[in-house]
Amino acid sequence: MNLYTAIQAALPAQPDEPAILTDDGLVYSWRDLDEATAMLANLLGSLKLRGTGGRPPVVAAHVDKSVEALLLYLATLRAGAVFLPLNPAYRAAELDYFVEDARPAVLVCRSDDLDWVTPLAAHRNVGHLFTLNDTRTGSLLTHAAQMARHHEVAVRQPDDLAAILYTSGTTGRSKGAQLSHGNLLSNARTLLRHWDWRTDDVLVHALPIFHIHGLFVAGHCALLSGTPMRWIGKFDAAKVIAQIKDAQGPRATVFMAVPTMYGRLLADGGLTPQASAHMRVFISGSAPLSAAAADAFLHATGHAILERYGMSETGMLCSNPCRSAEGARLPGSVGRALPGVGVRVVDDHGHPSPQGDAGHVEVRGPNVFKGYLGMPDKTREAFTRDGWFRTGDVGRIDENGYVHLVGRARDLIITGGFNVYPAEVETHLDRLPGVVESAVIGVPHPDFGEGVLGVLVTPKGVALDEAALLASLKDTIAGFKVPKRLVFVDDLPRTAMGKVQKNVLQQQYRHTFD
Ligand code: ATP
Ligand code: MG
Repeated sequence: MNLYTAIQAALPAQPDEPAILTDDGLVYSWRDLDEATAMLANLLGSLKLRGTGGRPPVVAAHVDKSVEALLLYLATLRAGAVFLPLNPAYRAAELDYFVEDARPAVLVCRSDDLDWVTPLAAHRNVGHLFTLNDTRTGSLLTHAAQMARHHEVAVRQPDDLAAILYTSGTTGRSKGAQLSHGNLLSNARTLLRHWDWRTDDVLVHALPIFHIHGLFVAGHCALLSGTPMRWIGKFDAAKVIAQIKDAQGPRATVFMAVPTMYGRLLADGGLTPQASAHMRVFISGSAPLSAAAADAFLHATGHAILERYGMSETGMLCSNPCRSAEGARLPGSVGRALPGVGVRVVDDHGHPSPQGDAGHVEVRGPNVFKGYLGMPDKTREAFTRDGWFRTGDVGRIDENGYVHLVGRARDLIITGGFNVYPAEVETHLDRLPGVVESAVIGVPHPDFGEGVLGVLVTPKGVALDEAALLASLKDTIAGFKVPKRLVFVDDLPRTAMGKVQKNVLQQQYRHTFD
């Protein structure tokens, strides 16, 4: 089934009810959504697009977050084309990589970027270039305005390609994960059930929509349940709190964010137990939420953040329980495998790890992607012979089935022949007085192969005593895990989704032990 057909089937019986309420006061009804996507889909249809490489045509969006950008996504599904969202922060060299790789038939960019995108699109033979701004302007909308408001949704099978999502590029060059209508729909339905989505739920949408978290996890939950979104164009702690507090119109009940956003909400201080008493659930993902941050949020608001785990290639894989009858939310764990998703942990030889031991996390299920675009070798390497996807994450499963991620396989440190899992050491570092957060990396060491290095964020102007911190750590964890050096910084380098870029740190500190 076309994913858009499922969204259409979920439209509420009252099409004039609000579907999206923006932070600048605009209200889009369900009818608005359906008509606007019909017009945009008719525009795409009028272009008589042709696909390349056996794929349906690709529509690439390199635009700021806006409701219209979300409508373009829905219209692309509706028209049976393939949507490719791109971080608008990408500049020419980056955009060129994606355009060369995915060969979109249509590229939509901000008017402000037209001067450099135009030659790039011409050079790469992109057939159609449109503009779209977050002010409801741009040639895409003026052209769509000429189109009919009726559109027959293109028939698509579950296996047909719906979107290409590039991975965040945390561990190397971004790879284009090819996701089908069936991948997206099955994962969204699983989440709606598992998170107990209700007909009166209202999502505060503050995430970017060029990434799986904001576009699929957040967007699909609201759209496939026919429940409204309170829409924030660009994350801002005060705006989020204002949306949560606002008692006019549909009352917020669900919020999704990455850990850095939770950190900013806490720093603001406005999210008191009283201000958030009506909220049903706060959900976190995309990067590890430290147990300390989860505790601080619980203290400040009375809410235990629900942490879940997923990736571009697979959608959501694990989640902490939503209903209390299904168990407690465990800080520092990403919860159990979602229904229908297989999660296993294996050793370096692919054999199942003994219960509770850390190893490579492998997964399977109807949510797992069809392969990387134009990278048959990488796709082959990513799957085991029995069809499980290698996530590249290292984790362990405890006796209650909860998954604990301990780092990425690439970031695993081998020092003097011993394995050190960065997340474990970071947990201990984060507890030391004066440490805001930490990143543990391995860098070349003449004796040990790799030496453990702790990069600590401290409040500006506060000097910590390296020797004293290391001495206290030696009392808590085995000597080989204790960093050989600590360095102090103001901030960690992060991706747009708040993931720590350990590759950047490894590069920066590679001569520490020379
Ligand atoms: P690349 O694959 O290009 O290196 P990436 O893996 O960061 O980039 P994404 O698909 O956006 O790209 O992110 C998926 C990864 O994010 C997971 O493999 C995992 O490492 C991390 N992740 C997601 N959710 C969580 C979580 N709750 N806790 C810890 N890590 C998480
Ligand atoms: Mg990845």
